[in-house]
Amino acid sequence: MTDIGIVGGGLYGSAIAYFLTEFGDEDTSVTVFEKDDLGGISTARSAGILRHHYSNRRHVEIVSRSREIMESLEDHVGHDGGFTQNGFLVGAGPEEADALRDIVAVQQDLGLDVELLDPQEMDAYLPALDADGFEVGAYESQAGFADPYRVATGFASAASSQGATIHTDTPVVDVERDGGEVTAVRTGEGRHEVDVLVNAAGPFGAEVAAMVDVDVPLSWYEVKVAVLTADTPYDADLPTFSDVDDAIYTKPEHGGDFIVGGFNDPPMDAPDAGFETMHDDDYETLVEWFDRRMPGYADAKVVDSWSGVITPSPDWHQIIGRPAGLENFYNAVAGSGHGFKEAAGFAESIAQDVLGRTPRFDLSPYRLERFAEGDELESRYSSASWLA
Ligand SMILES: Cc1cc2nc3c(=O)[nH]c(=O)nc-3n(C[C@H](O)[C@H](O)[C@H](O)COP(=O)(O)OP(=O)(O)OC[C@H]3O[C@@H](n4cnc5c(N)ncnc54)[C@H](O)[C@@H]3O)c2cc1C
Repeated sequence: MTDIGIVGGGLYGSAIAYFLTEFGDEDTSVTVFEKDDLGGISTARSAGILRHHYSNRRHVEIVSRSREIMESLEDHVGHDGGFTQNGFLVGAGPEEADALRDIVAVQQDLGLDVELLDPQEMDAYLPALDADGFEVGAYESQAGFADPYRVATGFASAASSQGATIHTDTPVVDVERDGGEVTAVRTGEGRHEVDVLVNAAGPFGAEVAAMVDVDVPLSWYEVKVAVLTADTPYDADLPTFSDVDDAIYTKPEHGGDFIVGGFNDPPMDAPDAGFETMHDDDYETLVEWFDRRMPGYADAKVVDSWSGVITPSPDWHQIIGRPAGLENFYNAVAGSGHGFKEAAGFAESIAQDVLGRTPRFDLSPYRLERFAEGDELESRYSSASWLA
């Protein structure tokens, strides 16, 4: 029997558990240890946007695979994740215009339905928009959004029906290591021997890695989301929109309200530093941005808001794989602010890799050692790390 333990029952832990039960045989045993409830810390607060707009070609491929899984989630896990294909519109001013054009070329090369737009063509997709100041835009039709909590708990429930054991309210407080091997986890309930341990602890990924003396460079940012209502509904068939220059996005909710997000504060000292939700400054940013960029919704009122933590690595990309010197410990962390859209695609390959099979995607570019080796993943954008 191969006992695979997973720390964390957020989206990554749940999806990896699902794919392990899907690909494993009768000798594979999967156990998830979640310190609170299923559904995760970041996952439960996520906006759930899935777009393919990435400067890293491998990322575009992984998101495409995630989208395929989202489109057929019911066939995988028995219920859908609320995936709504509303499209994605993006605009950039002169500084980032070439980056946007290059990214669209990569997407088109991979067969995605994406077109470059002149700024004056953009309001055909989002009538409330004023594209003044943009040099170029793009629209991708296959993008969408889903309900991240529903997706995560769907994966967890399917994993459980396929034989995984899921312990909630069970924090992993220590991991036993014997030389180059992890041997067991310790929880409040006791000791559990493992043959492989997957670290999917999200914002606490560095804390769990430190239990086996592995240094994982993570930082934490509080990101805020406001729900708005306006006289003109932002219907769910209107696209999600990203303003590269101002780092602000809008996304429809079902029912005509919409969310706006992206006005980030400086990094936090710890993953669980207190969340403050929106400040007066944030409201000022929104009012100014709506007047200038989204005049069709300038009457919008904030009806709700929340914030959550995102956990980037130094190059804003995931840290995935076995750290050097530890053959049975596997990191699956650093989802950053874009981890939802990549989760299913990554989880499938991670499960294949953990089981010793050839993964659909080569995960070596995401190895922890890239930071020490000076081989970080590069973003085509110079300022928009969230579009890395
Ligand atoms: C406000 C916001 C908006 C976002 N919007 C988007 C978006 O539109 N599109 C997109 O692609 N991404 C988005 N993201 C990012 C995305 O949601 C995250 O990258 C993703 O959800 C991370 O999932 P995770 O499973 O790694 O982490 P989490 O969901 O945080 O799960 C980690 C789990 O590990 C558990 N855990 C931690 N330590 C331990 C321990 N010692 N023992 C046991 N369990 C432990 C935690 O309790 C938690 O349940 C957003 C994030 C936020 C916060």
